Amino acid sequence: MSAVRIPAWDAAEGGRRVRRLFAATFDAAPDGVWSAPGRVNLIGEHTDYNGGLALPIALPHRTYAALARRGDDVVRLVSAQEPSGVREVRLSDAVPGAVGGWAAYVVGVAWALREAGHDVGGFDVAIDSCVPFGAGLSSSAALEASVAVALDDLHGLGLAGRVDPAGAPTDDAGRAVLAALCVRAENEMAGAPTGGMDQAASLRARAGHALLLDCRDGSVRHVPFDLAAHGLALLVVDTRAEHSHVDGEYAQRRAACEEAARRLGVASLRDVADDPRGDGWALEALAAGPDGEVLVRRVRHVTSEIARVTALVAALDSGDVPAAGALMDASHASLRDDYEVSCRELDVAVEAARAAGALGARMTGGGFGGSAIALVAAGDVDHVADAVAAAFDAHDLPAPAVAVAVAGPPAGTTEV
Ligand code: ADP
Ligand code: MG
Repeated sequence: MSAVRIPAWDAAEGGRRVRRLFAATFDAAPDGVWSAPGRVNLIGEHTDYNGGLALPIALPHRTYAALARRGDDVVRLVSAQEPSGVREVRLSDAVPGAVGGWAAYVVGVAWALREAGHDVGGFDVAIDSCVPFGAGLSSSAALEASVAVALDDLHGLGLAGRVDPAGAPTDDAGRAVLAALCVRAENEMAGAPTGGMDQAASLRARAGHALLLDCRDGSVRHVPFDLAAHGLALLVVDTRAEHSHVDGEYAQRRAACEEAARRLGVASLRDVADDPRGDGWALEALAAGPDGEVLVRRVRHVTSEIARVTALVAALDSGDVPAAGALMDASHASLRDDYEVSCRELDVAVEAARAAGALGARMTGGGFGGSAIALVAAGDVDHVADAVAAAFDAHDLPAPAVAVAVAGPPAGTTEV
């Protein structure tokens, strides 16, 4: 049983597609093409809203946006992934709650920029993307970031800087501002209560590096991430499982963490993770209160996961890359047993990958479906991918889709 591949377009293909869609829809040429990557998180899951650490890489899979400024305050938008046709929204009418569906992510970015005092007017935009939708690989942040760098460029806002030939952004501080505005768009306009990891990865990552993101102060460090140099590869498995209760469960986990922090008298669970005494005192204190058993497990996931991010960064820094495998395994167990956000498809993917020789594997993203990652020997990629596909077949699950992830560049202009 061979696994289906998720293709990653190069800039020429992405640019060609989106220019064609723009011309066919608006009967004109765009002012330019911009693109932004999806992301996969190596470790540090459900830590971002706890002021914790995360370690994503930007995927080679990107969302492409062809844009042209208009002289009025109308936004017209079309996406190859949305068959419903052209949407039209007036920016003066665009307030939280007023724009439904996918348009909220695009219009939300313009709204957030205007809220921050930037003079952003109407535009026409065509979108096309090879980032799988709703697969935990952050197509939503890729969409926001592609529009954010386009508007920054077209309006001369000076926040995004450039991406240098090595794939490094030149202005991290400006990009941190743009990322925060994209978070506002997603939280307030699209109504999705996500943390900031996805937008940071799409805008602030560097090619060939993982992005160590400190969600307490928003600072980042680029950690060299070159698996090929170690004879290894990162396999991403999109389980194609979508669970309807995701938003409610996510909100519940977040609320449990906030409640635990409140009872412990700390600003966020990061304070517990950093406590020189360890987390034992906090778990003991929580165990004595109502819902103690559940809160203990939720907090234990967060504190141990933050420690695993630090350990994985140390492994990368010291060149002991295979050590990452055991940390990934431990992360999955914690997410499955303590945080309870895994699901059958993710567990099947992770177990099949390990049984086929992966050094480690874990779910990635928020959970309840979405994607898993496996650290594998470079020569084992096809074998592990096919073994996961065969396991899905044996469990009567629809075929998964796979990709090999290397750390790509962040959002920027796409020259074609
Ligand atoms: P993920 O970010 O993990 O892919 P989300 O549920 O956060 O999943 O975001 C998916 C949503 O983002 C889609 O339902 C759609 O509204 C919007 N979206 C993402 N990419 C596109 C695209 N290329 N065209 C139109 N809408 C998109
Ligand atoms: Mg998303």
